[in-house]
Amino acid sequence: MKTLTSKHLGSRAAFAMLFIWLLSGNATLARAQPRYALPLKSIRVTSGYGPRKHPLSGELRLHRGTDLAARSDSVHSILTGTVKTIGHHHQLGLYLITQHGELEITYGHLGDTWVHAGQKIYAGQQIARTGASGQVTGEHLHLSIRYRGRYLNPMRFLEKLVQNTH
Ligand SMILES: [Zn+2]
Repeated sequence: MKTLTSKHLGSRAAFAMLFIWLLSGNATLARAQPRYALPLKSIRVTSGYGPRKHPLSGELRLHRGTDLAARSDSVHSILTGTVKTIGHHHQLGLYLITQHGELEITYGHLGDTWVHAGQKIYAGQQIARTGASGQVTGEHLHLSIRYRGRYLNPMRFLEKLVQNTH
């Protein structure tokens, strides 16, 4: 008999496992700190997760994240964790990846970053400022979330986070 893993269980079960982990007081979460924060003070989706025509090339491609309207706004870390990478990519521009166990969050098209790789960060901490770096038609925050290497719909993730924490 094969061992059941999150791969066999599908995304619904993987999601459930992820939230059990998130809410079980992962890492060194101090009680006074929030368990999560929204990345921007106001959330307005300008381009959702899924297949779309690329705004510049016109090619049909899978958008592996969600674009949020922003204007030189503070970016807050969604979860407590560690800064994994800060880098520059020709499409994504200045980007920052944070790590939370097996979950990774990418913030792209940034204007500036206020943390360094390896730094411990807490949920709600200001980690960057939005910008228009990389290939963009206008300023926005590109947000993508990967769990065990698989991309999740960021808005679905945020909705679940809010639902499961209240
Ligand atoms: Zn995007």
